[in-house]
Amino acid sequence: MPEEEDLVDQQKRMTFPNPLLVVVSGPSGVGKSTIVAELARRHPQVVPIVTATTRARRQGEIHGVHYHFLARDEFGDLRDGGGLLEWAEVHGEWYGTPVDQVRGILAAGRDAILTIDPQGARQVRAAVPDALLLFVKPPSMKDLTERLVGRGSESQESLERRRRDAEQWMADTADYDHVVVNETGHPDEAAELIWEIIQAEARREPPRRPRV
Ligand code: 5GP
Repeated sequence: MPEEEDLVDQQKRMTFPNPLLVVVSGPSGVGKSTIVAELARRHPQVVPIVTATTRARRQGEIHGVHYHFLARDEFGDLRDGGGLLEWAEVHGEWYGTPVDQVRGILAAGRDAILTIDPQGARQVRAAVPDALLLFVKPPSMKDLTERLVGRGSESQESLERRRRDAEQWMADTADYDHVVVNETGHPDEAAELIWEIIQAEARREPPRRPRV
């Protein structure tokens, strides 16, 4: 449950809405989705955007909840019709952010949060300069490898590719406003850290004004 102080903060934010577009990026397997789900559970001011992908559904994933799972031609139509805020090929599949969802959340005075790869984060920065960009890092490469292996969903080839991408991305975080380390087994701590960052950024002068 949110603390009383958070509720007061949220009420103030609702009276004087200054919604943020928050991008959470970082390597595959670092725990971005878990952290963002925990953040949204604790702080309903923050709303995760369900993005679109052409990759196959993993066991337990639900269409419209984890992703909008689209065929390549459906994805292509959405993209070509200007329906995506950003899109990228990640690990050989297409992923993109439906712009209407982002507009709807911001118009409602809530913070829209995107969990996307660094190519997407860069596009959001270019399209929406006032977006808040966060990069989530693992404590070490060894830790990241263990998490990817533990997930059990990657082939050896896909694992190698994700490791290579991770090393490259972690070496170049200059575009981001903040870097957060997801300590093993503590997504709640990373979620709270991100919430504190969001609260501080929402009170910033001059305010961020994300135009989408
Ligand atoms: P996964 O296949 O493991 O769910 O996701 C692979 C990567 O794609 C993750 O880094 C995830 O954050 C990223 N991703 C998910 N949705 C989007 C999106 O809409 N745009 C971009 N650029 N990346 C995304």
